[in-house]
Amino acid sequence: MPIKCMKCNRDAIIFQKYSGMHICKRHFIEDVERKVKLTIRKQYKIEKGDIIAVALSGGKDSVVLLYLLHKIFGMRRDIEIVALTIDEGIAGYREETLEKARKLTSEFGIRHIVRSFKDEYDKTLDELTAQERELGACSYCGVLRKSLMNKIANEIGATKLATGHNLDDEAQTIMMNHLGGDVDRMIRLSPPRAIEGLVLRAKPLRKVPEKEVALYAIVNELPFDMSECPYAHEALRGEVRDMINEFEVRHPGTKYSIMRGFDKTVGLIAKEYPQAELSKCRVCGETCTASLCQACKLLGRS
Ligand code: SF4
Ligand code: ZN
Repeated sequence: MPIKCMKCNRDAIIFQKYSGMHICKRHFIEDVERKVKLTIRKQYKIEKGDIIAVALSGGKDSVVLLYLLHKIFGMRRDIEIVALTIDEGIAGYREETLEKARKLTSEFGIRHIVRSFKDEYDKTLDELTAQERELGACSYCGVLRKSLMNKIANEIGATKLATGHNLDDEAQTIMMNHLGGDVDRMIRLSPPRAIEGLVLRAKPLRKVPEKEVALYAIVNELPFDMSECPYAHEALRGEVRDMINEFEVRHPGTKYSIMRGFDKTVGLIAKEYPQAELSKCRVCGETCTASLCQACKLLGRS
């Protein structure tokens, strides 16, 4: 006999070990949306006049993010949503996800901006990493994508830059910063204030476990791409992910605890910890903590 939803007696589609609840499709959707709305209200305060740039890769997280923001704010005439997709130039991978991203934005009638590393930096990610072996592809990709996203967001006058990071991503990043003793990064993960030149980041899915983001995409029949980037093998993150997942099985709720502890202390740490002065990169003008930004450093500009 199928297990029943503990809220309404329909057939359950998921068991949330951390809450002890079996829930049906309707209550699952409600639960995800409640968490996202609460996160937006408490942490990101989206308001009249906001232009929300949404980082859309075409994978499940960003597709769910765009769908939810459209569902929550799509009817508001005083809030604009713009999707941004970066084509890093990863042969055999990005083409597929781009296709999914285009399908979704045209379905929703959302303005969609696509920019490539090739146009912006003169080289694709494949070309950049073929000639430079010192750093992994993800180091280039992460820094350059972040910088380009911020640049486009500024160009269109965006007031928020939303990304699809889920609970698993957040717990892993927090733990990686702890393991590396990297306090600067820890503070940057959740900037306590707006910084001129850096569009405010928002992560509305940060309270939704990765598995539930995937299930939400499936039950809503959203078009998302499941292929994995050929460079995806960041070793430390993989180890940390496995460790946290093992803990979560034995101690349900661990991922939420990691995030809660971080949220409670990051403001206090930021107050006491001396933070680097901000300036503008002398080459590209982006806001950064040195005279040359990370992106320009990686590109060998001087
Ligand atoms: Fe970029 Fe690495 Fe992600 Fe691939 S796995 S998209 S190279 S950050
Ligand atoms: Zn620069």
